[in-house]
Amino acid sequence: KEMTRLDAQEIQSLKHQLDERYAKFKAANLNLDMTRGKPCPEQLDLATAMLDCVKSTDHLGEGGDYRNYGGVDGIPEAKRLFSEYMEVTEKELIIGGNSSLNLMYDAVADALLRGVAEGAGPWTRLEKPTFLCPSPGYDRHFAVCESLGIHLVPVQMNDNGPLMDEVKSLVASDPNVIGIWCVPKYSNPTGIVYSDEVVDELAGMKTANPDFRIFWDNAYAEHHLTEAPPVLKNILEACKAAGNENRVYMFGSTSKISFAGSGVSFIAGSETNINFIRKRIGFQTIGPDKVNQLRHTRFFQNMDGLKSHMKRHAEILNPKFTATLETLERELGGTGVATWSKPVGGYFVSIDAPEGTADKIVKMAGDAGVKLTPAGATFPYGKDPKNQNIRIAPSFPSVDNIKTAMELVCVCILKAALDN
Ligand code: PMP
Repeated sequence: KEMTRLDAQEIQSLKHQLDERYAKFKAANLNLDMTRGKPCPEQLDLATAMLDCVKSTDHLGEGGDYRNYGGVDGIPEAKRLFSEYMEVTEKELIIGGNSSLNLMYDAVADALLRGVAEGAGPWTRLEKPTFLCPSPGYDRHFAVCESLGIHLVPVQMNDNGPLMDEVKSLVASDPNVIGIWCVPKYSNPTGIVYSDEVVDELAGMKTANPDFRIFWDNAYAEHHLTEAPPVLKNILEACKAAGNENRVYMFGSTSKISFAGSGVSFIAGSETNINFIRKRIGFQTIGPDKVNQLRHTRFFQNMDGLKSHMKRHAEILNPKFTATLETLERELGGTGVATWSKPVGGYFVSIDAPEGTADKIVKMAGDAGVKLTPAGATFPYGKDPKNQNIRIAPSFPSVDNIKTAMELVCVCILKAALDN
């Protein structure tokens, strides 16, 4: 029943029930962690055979001896496979080390220090270098900028991408606005996919600063939970069509395909951008871990291999997302106190609780032994202006633990809603 329609007596009895349920959870001494989108051990097991793909007797690749220095932008086998994954040409791609976040940090830091390809110079020359942050979004993106002294401006996130009227007016009016963070597919945390219209608008919009860059973090490109996945429009193609081919840096990695921490990462963009970045990386390193790249290409072989591998991930993840969503529906459906995302891919479920309650809910759940991502984390500076967004990461815990944890989360949401 809708909570606003309960009479005083019903409220008293509901309060009593919730307090009892909460006390039971507390007594159970739970110790569950739903803070981060970590793959579970069963997911990692899917790729363990990769560790046998390069042997002491069989370690040479097309490019020669990968035990040695060189190959700063990746081995030919990896460029072939992952250019297809990123939907760019091999010349528009660099294979990095084990972390795409690392590539993003370096791209931002380098732009501050030296500027961008064909640009006007270091971003530090701007009075107040500023990034737009569609929110809720990925906390580590915001943290990269915050740690480097870049000003962050939240932009409303809709079901088809950021609110473009807001984005367009901000980038057109202020030359300090130099970048935007985007997770265009199965966005972290709301799970939405950018529409073709939004992609085209981002690619074509007028920017007051010609050095403006879109940080297009396609971390979940093949991470579907459905048989008929949505298709994301290729933003590099859209930028080229709009005459802004240098506007976008695309990122990706196998952190949630092979091993989180021992995967391979990618940066892609126009040849101009990639040549500029390759040169800089050549100062940073004599070459990446090519042996790991070889392991990856031998294991996956081609995109068909990678896609069928991702189907096995989906088989593990789907029951966990189902358990999360079924518990939310059972406990909160029809109460009118919360809304939540129903993602068809990616790693998160995003809940909007009543305004002003997210921090209390996260604390209550924590006190009963279920750790959640800190309230506010999905907004710049950790400040959710409405204090209502809660990010749920169902990948790591078992289905049974998810059911327990989500039931507790729902009890906390209902308690907070009643007290509100
Ligand atoms: N981007 C997004 C949107 C993510 O959710 C994550 C990890 N959860 C990362 C990047 C981190 O990627 P990597 O492991 O390649 O650094």
